[in-house]
Amino acid sequence: MGRRDQHGDGRGQEGGGHAVELRGVRRQYGRGAGAVHALRGIDLDLPHGTFTAVMGPSGSGKSTFLQCAAGLDRPTGGTVRVGGTDLTRMRENRLTALRRERLGFVFQAFNLLPSLTVEQNVSLPMRLAGRRPDPRRTARALAQVGLGAHAGRRPGQLSGGQQQRVAIARALVTGPDVVFADEPTGALDAGTAAEVLGLLRHAVDGLGTTLVMVTHDPVAASWADRVLFLADGALAGDLERPSAGQVAARMAALTGAARRTAAA
Ligand code: ADP
Ligand code: MG
Repeated sequence: MGRRDQHGDGRGQEGGGHAVELRGVRRQYGRGAGAVHALRGIDLDLPHGTFTAVMGPSGSGKSTFLQCAAGLDRPTGGTVRVGGTDLTRMRENRLTALRRERLGFVFQAFNLLPSLTVEQNVSLPMRLAGRRPDPRRTARALAQVGLGAHAGRRPGQLSGGQQQRVAIARALVTGPDVVFADEPTGALDAGTAAEVLGLLRHAVDGLGTTLVMVTHDPVAASWADRVLFLADGALAGDLERPSAGQVAARMAALTGAARRTAAA
């Protein structure tokens, strides 16, 4: 199965551009002397079917970047395109529909609905998108994360790692163009984190998903094809297929620079 045509319906081919394109993206909080420039002009292309990790010191703009790229927050300036569609000019209701139909989300705190079963949690995005939940799709998504036997359980009956695997199945069930993950392994121990990262890696390699993951863990970042570094709201370099050690060394340099600036 080609990476470009992950859904078998030609959707991955459209436009031929990148999965995610940012041009001059700025995000400012407040105005005047007290304004915070969380993003200072980000230009970025993320190819289809790639896994990108985003790292940077605390306060460097990682969460703001993810929120803007995923259409959860509106930049103060610049444009964000997902699958060729400009999110920055869309009306809120269309943006919500696009997020439901074409994007997937995985969060540090899993964000499952405790009163729903695993199966109901996974099929929820189809329901929210106004589609009839397809039991075979739900079953396939659960099988992909190794939880086919747990469909009738509630999230509270599962371990943290299992809950995050349910969240990954929920993110993948609609066959999204892009999955955005904010610290998906932040609440997991190292072994469980590796399982979750292996599933995310497989979504990229096996299903052609485009994945963008914010993390502060160099080991998690080393699963990505490319690691982008943010410092003070701007891109501060990248590494292709790095080892955890290379990522840690780059982070130490950035964090040291941030401390020296703050102390000056
Ligand atoms: P990171 O995720 O890398 O820690 P954030 O994107 O959360 O960074 O924040 C970037 C900067 O923007 C920080 O200086 C933060 O204090 C500021 N910031 C984030 N959200 C808000 C907000 N809602 N109001 C004001 N400042 C904010
Ligand atoms: Mg953050």
